[in-house]
Amino acid sequence: MCVYIYCRVWNRCCSAQNKMENQDLSKFTIKGDPQSLQNKISQIRMAGPSKLQVIADFDGTLTRYFINGSRGQSSHGLLQQGNPEYDAKRQALYEYYHPLEFSPTVPLEEKTKLMEEWWGKTHGLLIEGGLTYDTIKKSVSNALIAFRDGVVKLFEFLEERDIPVLIFSAGLADIIEEVLRQKVHKSFKNVKIVSNRMVFDKDGHLVSFKGKTIHSLNKNEHALDMAAPLHEHFGDTDGPNYDNASVKNRTNVLLLGDHIGDLGMSDGLKYETRISVGFLNDNIENNLDNYRNAFDIVYLVSGTQT
Ligand SMILES: [Mg+2]
Repeated sequence: MCVYIYCRVWNRCCSAQNKMENQDLSKFTIKGDPQSLQNKISQIRMAGPSKLQVIADFDGTLTRYFINGSRGQSSHGLLQQGNPEYDAKRQALYEYYHPLEFSPTVPLEEKTKLMEEWWGKTHGLLIEGGLTYDTIKKSVSNALIAFRDGVVKLFEFLEERDIPVLIFSAGLADIIEEVLRQKVHKSFKNVKIVSNRMVFDKDGHLVSFKGKTIHSLNKNEHALDMAAPLHEHFGDTDGPNYDNASVKNRTNVLLLGDHIGDLGMSDGLKYETRISVGFLNDNIENNLDNYRNAFDIVYLVSGTQT
């Protein structure tokens, strides 16, 4: 099973001759109302590629949740600072805050403050611990991280049609870019990373972060606007100009995420038609109903599948 099926789906979306009924969607669980999904596909197909954009979460969505039976690492989790004391300090923060992030008893407002606190402290430790860009490169090359099958084909398919992809992540932009460089060995003119971006001094030491911190619970907060200072282009500079205005004019969205909160990634956009795909990576039995209600299409990931 692979993400490339989206290419096939979208190929058909973009081609009036093809019919939805012919698609092999047997590996997806489609939301209760297939007709509604069909209508959305028709609307997006009619509007054409110039109206479409893709907004995708990174960790656990574009990347594999399991790799050879082990949990894949996240863009934050893979980072080894080259300073064991600081790696341990960040791990201690993870152990304290991670259960709070998923606690059913902590109110959302309080949880949001906790997440700001966690991200702030973690970023502070990265600066204090003297993170360098070379360390990022080394961490990525040693990391257990891989794209899902088909992601590269999907990006290529979209690039050929000048359809932008916004990777929207509470992780670290610089690491996501390095993962693209090392695991895909190419850049895409149409792919932009909206995530926490580091500022390095001339010696390659991290000195600060740009813009507002994006954490796991504010990916819905005027998403595109707050990311404005982070909209640096990854890839060739002579490609199409995907500034905020042009992205906002693309009012049809294919949204990919692995948490229900990822649906908020399109909140900064007055979209006309959105098709959402949820990757249900874990605890499938307990989460399936919620995912089916929240997403148009749910992709089930079990065990060692990609
Ligand atoms: Mg994710």
